[in-house]
Amino acid sequence: MNKREIWEKVIGELRSEISRAKLLTWFKGSAIIGASEEAVTIGVPTAMAERQLAGQFDGVIRKCVQKILPGVETVAYRVDPKLEFKEDGRAIDFEVLKGEEEVPKKRKMPKKAEVKVDGIRSVMIDARYTLDNFVVGPDNRLAHAAACAVSNEPGRNYNPLFIYGGVGMGKTHLLQGTGNAIERKHGGKVVIYETSETFMNEFIGFVRKQKADKFKEKYRKADVLLIDDIQFFKGKESTQEEFFHTFNALYMAGKQIVLTADRPPKELDGLDDRLISRFEQGMVVDVQFPDLETRMAILQEKCHEKGVMIDPDVLEFIAENVSESVRELEGVLMQAIAESELEKSSPTVRSVSKHLKKVNKKKEIVGVREMDEMEGQGKVCNLKDLLERVAVFFELKKEDLVGASRKAKIALPRQMAMYLAREKMGYTLEEVGDFFGGRDHTTVLHSVKRIEEGRKTDKRLLRDLNALRKEVRL
Ligand code: ADP
Ligand code: MG
Repeated sequence: MNKREIWEKVIGELRSEISRAKLLTWFKGSAIIGASEEAVTIGVPTAMAERQLAGQFDGVIRKCVQKILPGVETVAYRVDPKLEFKEDGRAIDFEVLKGEEEVPKKRKMPKKAEVKVDGIRSVMIDARYTLDNFVVGPDNRLAHAAACAVSNEPGRNYNPLFIYGGVGMGKTHLLQGTGNAIERKHGGKVVIYETSETFMNEFIGFVRKQKADKFKEKYRKADVLLIDDIQFFKGKESTQEEFFHTFNALYMAGKQIVLTADRPPKELDGLDDRLISRFEQGMVVDVQFPDLETRMAILQEKCHEKGVMIDPDVLEFIAENVSESVRELEGVLMQAIAESELEKSSPTVRSVSKHLKKVNKKKEIVGVREMDEMEGQGKVCNLKDLLERVAVFFELKKEDLVGASRKAKIALPRQMAMYLAREKMGYTLEEVGDFFGGRDHTTVLHSVKRIEEGRKTDKRLLRDLNALRKEVRL
């Protein structure tokens, strides 16, 4: 088989795993550009497609490649712009697929791959969590670096690796990403991922069935043991005891152990001191709530993964207003995407702020005021309309906006209104001045300039202005 034939066969397999739409979108122009007995490199025409294949589809692709070439352990992805133009006929076209009406049988892709370790099933890792799509910033850099080091040489560097941090900070992502990376780089290794709860339940189950040996056997087979949320071992003495033995056996055999918890080892009350001191012997790293820039990058990454485009203003708005956890950050984004799909419009600062208010009653939402009253209004059409809507947007009185107050809280919205009236609605300086409390045309000119300058230098002003412009459709 040549490369093209191999790839056609693989695509054939992929067709029962991935929807036709996705195949057409992401696999168009793809080709195998390198192949040996153990490794295959898949070329794609764009970086976007590369991210999708390596992220979302990596697990299935590997599975399907291995069906055709059982010896392959590594699948890599590379951008090759030449493919876009099908210059050398390597890339396969999808005419065949295009002609089809329906994929014969729609098979649901299981989210979690299951791995069988000698008759014992272990829920394996979610392929969506990788070390590559984990966005790195100052608050999680060390943890990510340690996870990468571990995945490069399991059992060699940091053992155990202990990752701790609050809820929704990315611990599970890092842990499963480590497992995914090890599976990819070291194909033959047995990687076992369990939460502390499943570990415990399984243990209890086996003991009840008087098959504790089987339990031991399973875990002693691991080359890499990943246990999530170890804090739940609290007070579970016999499970801890069993875990302690498993830990020691693996550790002595040079096998890698990675653990997560919601707090550092020292603070794990209710856990055996022997365990705590074992944890402390390895590498202890934390993940914290990422800074604004990293939060933005995470949102962008999630948009890429979902294949959606969202206004950067909206992303920034979400990043600024979520301050609890990355999970919440992602949740707000997903909600925004879901709602906009239902309503067939793109998410706006307003739609997002409404949702944020629902989930986050107490907190002040930065940058946007009450906007419910404006539901369903279209483009402003005259100055009176503009005045009303600006007043509602900024929660001000109309009289104040046309009045004399110079308080920033009032003056800035007034200047924005004048700016929009002049620049976006085309009224003359005089008309604007007259309407806004009989102001002189030079005052209007000054306001317009002030906003134009502010847009370039003042991010907050820019965001407010953009949000307002979206509201009044200007
Ligand atoms: P934890 O286990 O700490 O409670 P998770 O690992 O489940 O948190 O993370 C919650 C969500 O946030 C997941 O969907 C995860 O992909 C995402 N997430 C967290 N941190 C990052 C990051 N740095 N980059 C990308 N996604 C992240
Ligand atoms: Mg978790």
